[in-house]
Amino acid sequence: MLLPTAMLMPMLNVQVIDHPVIQTKLSELRDKSTDTRTFRLLLDEIAMLMTYEVTRDWPTIKRPVSTPMEETQGAVLARPVTLVPVLRAGLGMADGVKRILSDARMGHLGVSRNEKTLQPDSYYAKLPPDVKETEVLLIDPMLATGGSAVYAVEYLKQRGVTSMKFMCLVAAPEGIERLHLKHPEVPVYCCAIDRQLNDRGYIMPGLGDAGDRLFGT
Ligand code: URA
Repeated sequence: MLLPTAMLMPMLNVQVIDHPVIQTKLSELRDKSTDTRTFRLLLDEIAMLMTYEVTRDWPTIKRPVSTPMEETQGAVLARPVTLVPVLRAGLGMADGVKRILSDARMGHLGVSRNEKTLQPDSYYAKLPPDVKETEVLLIDPMLATGGSAVYAVEYLKQRGVTSMKFMCLVAAPEGIERLHLKHPEVPVYCCAIDRQLNDRGYIMPGLGDAGDRLFGT
């Protein structure tokens, strides 16, 4: 039984990235007249821009640098990074994130939603062998019922991952609540929290089926 969203909202570990450039791109992405090509481009660009905020608190370690002038101290990320897009729509964000985190390795989790039960079905999983030593960014444009997200976080925890963030474009209050009832320590980064889910588990107002719009299916 889920608690009323209004009771949980103040304590939720969610950051809405409300940068005006991102919000402008998100509005265009939501528009039903946006074609596949533009949808891909916008999703990619938003993911890239979000990465800057999502990674802001990652630890760094000092690294000596020889500039052409003298020796100095630089910094590098303390831990390697793994991106884990949830297939298939998560793939639409992966290149944008990789443009900022170019050394990141990639895992893949194939999770589809059973349209009758709205429960997650897993059909594929492949992760780097040392994934537990890395910072993990789990990426999926839509946090709807939260079923796939809960499944994916559980899967990663079972593989020893201790530091991960969930990155999406649009979140439903129901999805945030479900994810945080199970995994309250996993921060959610999104560009909008929409009103609600409809009776088919779609986000309202949302942007429709992100996978279909991304792949033209
Ligand atoms: N997945 C989508 O692509 N869109 C929704 O609104 C919900 C789940």
